[in-house]
Amino acid sequence: MCVLKWLVVVCFACHGVPAAPPATEYRGAQWFDGEQFVARTMWVVGDRFVERKPSRVAHVVDLAGKFVVPPYGEGHNHWLEPALVDAYVAANLRGGIFYVRDMSTPFHDAIRPHVNTPASVDYIAAHQGFTGPDGHPLELIGMLEKMRVIPAGTNDAIVVASEADVDHAWPVLVASKPDFIKLFLVHSDEYAARLTGAPLGKKGIDPALVPGIVRRAHAAHLRVAAHIEDAADFHTAIAAGVDDIAHMPFVEDPAETYRLADVDVAAACARGVTVATTFDWMNDGKDAWIEVERANLAALRTHGCPIVIGTDLFRQTAAKEVDLIIEKHLMTNLELLVAWSVTTPLVIFPGRQIGRLADGAEASFLVLGGDPLADPKNLHAITLRVKQGREVVPGSAVLPPIGEWGAPSK
Ligand SMILES: [Zn+2]
Repeated sequence: MCVLKWLVVVCFACHGVPAAPPATEYRGAQWFDGEQFVARTMWVVGDRFVERKPSRVAHVVDLAGKFVVPPYGEGHNHWLEPALVDAYVAANLRGGIFYVRDMSTPFHDAIRPHVNTPASVDYIAAHQGFTGPDGHPLELIGMLEKMRVIPAGTNDAIVVASEADVDHAWPVLVASKPDFIKLFLVHSDEYAARLTGAPLGKKGIDPALVPGIVRRAHAAHLRVAAHIEDAADFHTAIAAGVDDIAHMPFVEDPAETYRLADVDVAAACARGVTVATTFDWMNDGKDAWIEVERANLAALRTHGCPIVIGTDLFRQTAAKEVDLIIEKHLMTNLELLVAWSVTTPLVIFPGRQIGRLADGAEASFLVLGGDPLADPKNLHAITLRVKQGREVVPGSAVLPPIGEWGAPSK
């Protein structure tokens, strides 16, 4: 240690204090501070923000009155076509989405080389999720196989009916290094009746197995996300200790079945359980159903659960979910901006300095041509994307439109 100290002293004596790394100055913009936009100048050194002017400024970028926000997140999607992963990445980056949570995919190993680099999205995935015999999502997998979107025989779910089944599957799943664990609850209070009486996909995992999965996952330092469909599933998930709820209820008749119990919402929010939106069903939903969901959202808001923007739409991005939220007036402009650019990224990567534009945080941001608090459509008016200090230029690859599901994936 003495030698090292001596070398450092000699080095400084010969050459003086090492020159500070060059900074880039971003001037002339309004920066989102979590509540409002504030006119200020910011600097980037390496991959971090600096709020005080550094000694060496190598570049100056004039943002000419534009609006700067943290990059967005996608809290619920499924990447199922490794051959198209570059198009998935490009579509998300074009939309300003830098952080993606894949709520279960069997193609994780093929996807990972394409993500989590400076020029790509940062991505986490559950691998195969736990369901019951003939449970959701087996019917979707069968449909995608028939359409030749995914290869026949794809192993996309872990079917369990007993603790012994979970014991058997667990080490294999953990060895595949998932970022978190996913399980599927489908009207869990009717599990026994649906096991024999409901069609393929209209059932899920035995709710009695959920606490044991949560216990195993937490012992392995893994969070657990639950697919839920109604208020009973939400109760089952919260009582079992699940960390993340993958959907708001998919409301149908009788609508009261989908109204979350206040006591469950209070319990969930008290321990920071997060809830993803996935509101696409509203496009065909009755007004009465949407009103129940508004009440659910109000309860989550009252008790303070983090709300995550999640799409759950194959070959789509969270921009579509955001447009639906705008159209249905489900959030205020400020709530939507916070949910998409602060909460969702931090739920996906809780340990990182993201979702804020401040000293020491990762220098990742989007520049918008207009104020998204005045008009939320400006969330899409992106003129510049910077990730960890470097400009990101998305590729032009596009995903085949939905409805053209013919091409076999490799
Ligand atoms: Zn999903």
